[in-house]
Amino acid sequence: MPLRRLQDLLGQTNAKTFLRSVLAGGRYANAYLFHGPAGVGKGIAALAFARAILCERAGGRRPPEPARVDHAPGLFEALEPPTAPAPKSSEPPLDDACGECAACLKSGDLQHPDLKFLFPVSGEEKELDTTIGDTLAALREDPFFVFTYEKFASIRLSLTRELLRELAYAPFEAARRVVVVRDADRMREDQYSALLKAIEEPGAVTVWVLTSSRPARLPATIVSRCQQVRFAPLAEDELIAYLEERVGVTARESRLLAALAAGSLGRALTLRDTDPLRLRDEALALLEPALRGDGPGLWRAAQAYMNYGRTGRESLRRMIEFHELWLRDLLRAGVGAPRDALVNRDREGELRRQAERVDPTEIRRRLMVLEEARDAIEGNVTADLTVFSAMARVAGARIGEGEWPAHLAERWRY
Ligand SMILES: [Zn+2]
Repeated sequence: MPLRRLQDLLGQTNAKTFLRSVLAGGRYANAYLFHGPAGVGKGIAALAFARAILCERAGGRRPPEPARVDHAPGLFEALEPPTAPAPKSSEPPLDDACGECAACLKSGDLQHPDLKFLFPVSGEEKELDTTIGDTLAALREDPFFVFTYEKFASIRLSLTRELLRELAYAPFEAARRVVVVRDADRMREDQYSALLKAIEEPGAVTVWVLTSSRPARLPATIVSRCQQVRFAPLAEDELIAYLEERVGVTARESRLLAALAAGSLGRALTLRDTDPLRLRDEALALLEPALRGDGPGLWRAAQAYMNYGRTGRESLRRMIEFHELWLRDLLRAGVGAPRDALVNRDREGELRRQAERVDPTEIRRRLMVLEEARDAIEGNVTADLTVFSAMARVAGARIGEGEWPAHLAERWRY
């Protein structure tokens, strides 16, 4: 069952406390924006919050009916669909999904008719239903499913149109409808206008829950109308405990994964099956000649790594992240940080030796170069050329232009 309860989610104490206070109060904003780094639980929290809003013992509980003693049940009252067993009025509503009522069972399988879930997809329009169906099936079956997107994945227009038509009608079963839009920053302008109109609708019965790890890409008009809920990077200890106890990762790997994940459970789960030590070492094989200013060595390493353009955007981005983690470790080692503070602590000796030789200012410059390269990979730039260019700039003035084939050196500028 993919949908958990808020109380079962990893970390995020502040966000959980806030959301549970909203549920206890029973008053909802028209829209919420869950924002924070990727892979820290915004999406799963959005679905858990939706589930609690629909739960018959929590947010979805109908207010006690006023006593009607002055008339016999009317013709139509008898035909009303059965509602949840009326709880005693002294019993406060739960501030989380109960996980057991009819609504929770449906929402737990993503089958509740008043829970709408939109997320970015890529691929052809005619295969949309299959793509979405496959993703939902994976999400239902794999408790550790991680959403990953291609660059141009987006929230499809056809789906938002269908949703907006449905908003004109009352919810099917619950008192409210909840629409969860995952990675809401992947929408088109005209979708935002329609979304804005829906959010601003007075007296609407729909609660919108948007998530984004790039809220700066959302129109300010949308952001300003959302109640914002911040999600923080997860603590390394939380990640380690989760990986060992819930995912079944061994103690040695969990420490490394948690360190490499930099506060993102999604990243830890994605890296789990990829032999992260090997990936890290491959990435560092490219960084090392750049740090030494060894032009020919860098050229050879880059060729080996790029495999002539067959390397995907995702793995290039990850490679740059490994580089950033290493450089940050160098900064830490440079100020005498203890072993536990180092992400790449299994290569501690090397880190300490390198840290003695490099200037912190130079490391910061290189970190900026890498940050730019990461943005360029996200943008519309050929990913592998970006990486060549970034590596050359990491190497800095120590590589003369003359050491690079001129026609290539030109192309590496972005
Ligand atoms: Zn329930």
